[in-house]
Amino acid sequence: MLLAHKIELDPNNEQRTYFKKASGVARKAYNWALEEWKRRYEAGEKLNEAALRRQLNRIKGEQFPYMLEVTKAAPQESIKQLGVAFKHFFRRVKNGEKPGYPRWKKFGIHDSFVATNGPSEKGADAAEVDGKKIKLPRVGWVRMRELVRFKGQIKQVTISRTADRWYAAILIDTEVLPHERNNHGSVGVDLGVKALAVLSDGRRIAGPKAHGNLLKKLRKLNKALARSKRYKDVEDRWRDSQNRKKVKIKLAKLHGRIANIRKDALHKATTHIVLNYDIIGIENLHVSGMVKNRRLARSIMDQSFCEFRRQLQYKADMYGAQVFVADRWFPSSKMCSRCREIKETLTLEQRVFECECGNKMDRDLNAAINLRTFAASSAEKQNACGDNSSGAASAA
Ligand SMILES: [Zn+2]
Repeated sequence: MLLAHKIELDPNNEQRTYFKKASGVARKAYNWALEEWKRRYEAGEKLNEAALRRQLNRIKGEQFPYMLEVTKAAPQESIKQLGVAFKHFFRRVKNGEKPGYPRWKKFGIHDSFVATNGPSEKGADAAEVDGKKIKLPRVGWVRMRELVRFKGQIKQVTISRTADRWYAAILIDTEVLPHERNNHGSVGVDLGVKALAVLSDGRRIAGPKAHGNLLKKLRKLNKALARSKRYKDVEDRWRDSQNRKKVKIKLAKLHGRIANIRKDALHKATTHIVLNYDIIGIENLHVSGMVKNRRLARSIMDQSFCEFRRQLQYKADMYGAQVFVADRWFPSSKMCSRCREIKETLTLEQRVFECECGNKMDRDLNAAINLRTFAASSAEKQNACGDNSSGAASAA
């Protein structure tokens, strides 16, 4: 099974320079191939990315000598990506969808390159991991901010930049190790902000501690952004002031940090859940939690919800648990978990769910129990129909 782990790097100045250069080469190769593809296609030629890769190999020494200073994986894989982009483009044309022709890669937006294609490239070109260090061809050992989560053969390493941080996405072919699981049956999970998650058996998984201060900072920066100035240039277009640009960069970095901290916490939570329960129910969209805490930027909440679902799904596949995703109309918060009566007037401030049947409990717990009931009955239906596919019938 192929799994990717993206880890922040701590490169020295020399390595940073190399990363920038290699990203530049990847971008150049992509844009060159796009131009060439267009030109030759218009001239009536049929072509493919493999032909373009061979062509670039022939001419790069003379036309783009700087390409020889970085790993050959950078330009080659970049052109393969263009091949994929064209494949999607032609498929959309064929299906009568909006086609979306492949676009130029731009500096500052597309800063990434494939650093190596793993152990198939022997010797100096192989990637290697040793604790919190990764060895990349032409670069040597680069410090990583955390340990690689999976054991197995490295298939590919892609280096990319977000704001001014560099990351390595390490693709690993891993064998799933037998893991001790405790089977507590089914569980419903309500994702929140204060508690990261509330489980239907009453357990609360606490959110990351470092969070609070960063959220305060986030609020401050958002205010600073609102106060910062824009002006119109001679062509009457809006431009950011120097100060506004600075605030934007700071905001991007902070968003990244918060997302990372949450991601780590999510890993602990999702591992715990798949190792302890067989049948797991979650919501499709995390609508309720987003409004519960207005301080948390919506994008962060969205992001962490997607990340939670992604992790839960692949870990469930690894360990043989099943995930059921309730559709977006499922009234997990508004339904009484005891008598199933739906409350139309449940305000966001009401932290306790109270029903005429006498049920009175924490609002998130009530939602989690509903999700558990949903998951358990979905699993029953699935098994009754003899559908053994792991994952979920309703998991889109
Ligand atoms: Zn009730």
